[in-house]
Amino acid sequence: MLELEEALTRILSAIQPSDPEAVSVHDAAGRVLAVTAVSPLDLPLFDNSAMDGYAVRAADLAKATPDNPRPLRLIGKAAAGEVFKGTVEPGTCVRLFTGSPLPIGSDGVVMQEDTRPDSTRLDWFWFSDPVSPGENVRHGGEDVKRGAQLVEAGTRLSPGQVALLAAVGMSEIKVARQPRVALLATGSELVESGRPLSPGKIYESNRVMLATLMKRDGAIPNIFPLVPDTMEATQAALEKALAECDAVVTSGGVSVGEYDFVKHAFEKLGGKLAFWRISIKPGKPFVFGHAGGKLLFGLPGNPVSALVTFLLLLRPALGRMQGATGVSLPKSNGALAEPVANPGDRRHFVRVVVDDAGRVRSAGTQASHSLSSLAKANGLLDVPPRTSLAEGAAVTVLRWDS
Ligand code: AMP
Ligand code: MG
Repeated sequence: MLELEEALTRILSAIQPSDPEAVSVHDAAGRVLAVTAVSPLDLPLFDNSAMDGYAVRAADLAKATPDNPRPLRLIGKAAAGEVFKGTVEPGTCVRLFTGSPLPIGSDGVVMQEDTRPDSTRLDWFWFSDPVSPGENVRHGGEDVKRGAQLVEAGTRLSPGQVALLAAVGMSEIKVARQPRVALLATGSELVESGRPLSPGKIYESNRVMLATLMKRDGAIPNIFPLVPDTMEATQAALEKALAECDAVVTSGGVSVGEYDFVKHAFEKLGGKLAFWRISIKPGKPFVFGHAGGKLLFGLPGNPVSALVTFLLLLRPALGRMQGATGVSLPKSNGALAEPVANPGDRRHFVRVVVDDAGRVRSAGTQASHSLSSLAKANGLLDVPPRTSLAEGAAVTVLRWDS
């Protein structure tokens, strides 16, 4: 049986990141940036006003006090998006709005609220406080310098990052192509939800879970019809899936039972199995193989085992296919609200609930078929073999709820 890290290393080293493609910046969030983005512009683009007010020469107001206010003559205005064409000469000011370019000659902005119009002379305003040079001015290049690195290649783009790329004028973004992944569920007991059940049958639930997770990780799932437990059906489905997609994910049929056909059918199609058992609980039966540049990930059928192996092995693989640099699950620190024990001899990934205060407790029964605790959990706690953790112990939880 392979250790988890060894299995992951073997999977990741078998993957070549896909070629990039260009997409509109509007479609780039959630995609993995293929080429480090460098700014072609300064941000802000030019000195501009941080508020609604008046552009002034700071020197004109150096001696202004509430008892000795100074008057300035208004010589024009510039709305955001307009440029005042003249120059702010000594003794004058220009009306500005948030984002208006700072006019030539001025070096500070006085808030509108700190001024008052002259009661008789049109276009004269009184200023009762000094302003320092640069006050209420957003300077060109203070946020981003032209030539600065904006986002590194391999980053899955966040909404803030696509906003930054748009702000420097980028409209087409080079991102990794999304892997197309066939999703097969094997099992003669499985029935599509919405259809009538007959005795002994169950509703299939892994494909919807796995497809949802895959989409979050940037893959495009291609959901195949249910595959009954026969050699012919398994082989036919795998053949079609390998032909149509970059990778094939199966659930079920990878144990040692006489109805477990995935491994054998894959080999009959010329596939090579790299390994098929991992020393973790749940999720021991897990197949990884390749056939002519296409990858096979055979997940166990039990829903919890399928989820855990997806998160620990398949998710990083999908990230690597897209050239993503950070492929491990996010983590959060917490403290156990109750003791947790793993008396077994395999690492146990325990489904837990982490609350906002960082208290960690079991999500309920840990049986690998239990969907109710799966639905409650927001994290996994990696508990080493033959280990008891006391209430209050500091723990790191793998998160998969975001
Ligand atoms: P297997 O890995 O095929 O031996 O399946 C292990 C257990 O998981 C069995 O109880 C199956 O009925 C169940 N199972 C397998 N595939 C699915 C699925 N797609 N949806 C729900 N349960 C499944
Ligand atoms: Mg089965």
